Amino acid sequence: MTTAPAIRLSTLTKSFGSVHAVDGVNLDVAPGEFFSMLGPSGSGKTTVLRLIAGFEKPTSGTIELFGDDVTAKAPFDRDVNTVFQDYALFPHMNVRDNVAYGLRVRGMGKKERNERADAALETVRLAGLGDRKPSQLSGGQRQRVALARATVVQPKVLLLDEPLGALDLKLREQMQVELKEIQRSLGITFIFVTHDQEEALTLSDRIAVFSEGRIVQLGTPREIYEAPSNSFVADFVGTANVFTGDIARAVVGKAGAFSIRPERMDVKSGAKAGANSASGSVVETIYVGSNTRVVVDLDAGQRVNVIVSNDENPNADKLRGQKVVVTWSATDVVTLSA
Ligand code: ADP
Ligand code: MG
Repeated sequence: MTTAPAIRLSTLTKSFGSVHAVDGVNLDVAPGEFFSMLGPSGSGKTTVLRLIAGFEKPTSGTIELFGDDVTAKAPFDRDVNTVFQDYALFPHMNVRDNVAYGLRVRGMGKKERNERADAALETVRLAGLGDRKPSQLSGGQRQRVALARATVVQPKVLLLDEPLGALDLKLREQMQVELKEIQRSLGITFIFVTHDQEEALTLSDRIAVFSEGRIVQLGTPREIYEAPSNSFVADFVGTANVFTGDIARAVVGKAGAFSIRPERMDVKSGAKAGANSASGSVVETIYVGSNTRVVVDLDAGQRVNVIVSNDENPNADKLRGQKVVVTWSATDVVTLSA
């Protein structure tokens, strides 16, 4: 048994001219982990994936796969496979031949590779559709063909670059569940890139939050969401209310930077502000089914979002224009580093 990480990045750096796309990234990913890289567009996520896959050469730093330094190796000498957002299926080939393609280039005979392709199609619940062309499938089905094609060669690591980005919301949620099941049943390491915080929180064992080519926080979904290390993470992951400077002193009652999640706050009309509360006026209410988002301009001079359960507060959507007190408990105030 090896105890080496599936992936180890050591001070990995990639510059394009003056752009530092990846800036000194250190990271260990454990075998079998569902690991996500989350960050806004341009934060360097795709470049990290391309470096791991071998499509780009790092400016400096090293990449190890299961203890083997692959930094100088060609893509086909690395035990990884990639699923891209646009799937990149061959339109003239049927689904089975698309899935079997990687086996064919490895010299596997037709009978065996067709059997393996059909088995891979079964794992993504596309059994029986092998004879169709990609154009005869829905978006979600094409996405699953791309997954089958990437997993049929049994890579130890699968890199997925925003693979659900082209799907509509409903299909995306459905595919998220399937991705997780596929990853569990195959037991391979997934490196999943997304700019969608909810997707990362739902799927991952751990998340690295990227900003400007660097990892700004690394942790479990719960750690990232409930204890963001700085205001960038607090704001990017779940639109927290962040308080700094004079407003922090007025609202939270002490100096520093703090965040409070919208769903950890409540609004009360006809109450007086005391500890762990602040007065303000409701500028907008947005009904979103099970919840209402209440936007409040605090008298201290900051706008906050409060998410109120419609079960507990059925009149929340009628608060617009009213004076209210926003409340929270002291334990929901997260101290940020900056
Ligand atoms: P993400 O996937 O997080 O959106 P990328 O890794 O694609 O980010 O890009 C990170 C930064 O590197 C961006 O500023 C992007 O413009 C730049 N970049 C990426 N690839 C190239 C390239 N081939 N040439 C020049 N700049 C690039
Ligand atoms: Mg990208």
